[in-house]
Amino acid sequence: MKYCDKCKVSVRGNREHCPLCNAVLHGEAEPSGFPRLPNEHKKHKLWISILALSSVSACIICLLLNFLFRKHGQWSLFVLGGVVCMWMTLGLALYKQRNIPKTMVWEVFLVGLLSVLWDYFTGWRGWSINYVLPIVSMGVMVVLVFLSRLFHVAAGSLIVYLLVDALMGVIQLVLLLTGCITVPLPSLLCVGVSTVMLAAMLIFRGRKVREELRRRLHL
Ligand SMILES: [Zn+2]
Repeated sequence: MKYCDKCKVSVRGNREHCPLCNAVLHGEAEPSGFPRLPNEHKKHKLWISILALSSVSACIICLLLNFLFRKHGQWSLFVLGGVVCMWMTLGLALYKQRNIPKTMVWEVFLVGLLSVLWDYFTGWRGWSINYVLPIVSMGVMVVLVFLSRLFHVAAGSLIVYLLVDALMGVIQLVLLLTGCITVPLPSLLCVGVSTVMLAAMLIFRGRKVREELRRRLHL
């Protein structure tokens, strides 16, 4: 076993430096007592690289085709925009993959924002706020509740994410009342589900909600 002369402790494994004082360890290395964990990230890495290469080549092919057949307009820019949006949502999911509920709420915001931008720059038709926003935020709310049952996500953090997602319902209500939404059914459903969810949280977990908010917002 390796030994630190300064701390007078034996250290398992084949570390070079003492974990306490960072001094150089002396003695023979011995196998660490911990099992080797499989690196999940590495397995995904190959697929991500393949996906990256195929999206880059798809973009290049589209740009070249668009250049050849210019009279059909600048459609390749839409392909490029689509690929960029796909990588933004995928990147967010991969970057925050350890906390699934948090990732999902962030995705709601990102997908909502990107769809509003798409809608805006392709001649506003309102599909982003009529359909995408209500359906995505409603879907995430339902999935979050199922997740909490399946994976026993800590109730405290889940409450916060549900709360944030339910607030999206409030935004929908504002959009509805100001007449921005032209197809009211999805938004009405979303507002309804959000309100029921908020009420359920306050009725069943009222104390936990208050505790969690006080803890997080430093009230
Ligand atoms: Zn030491």
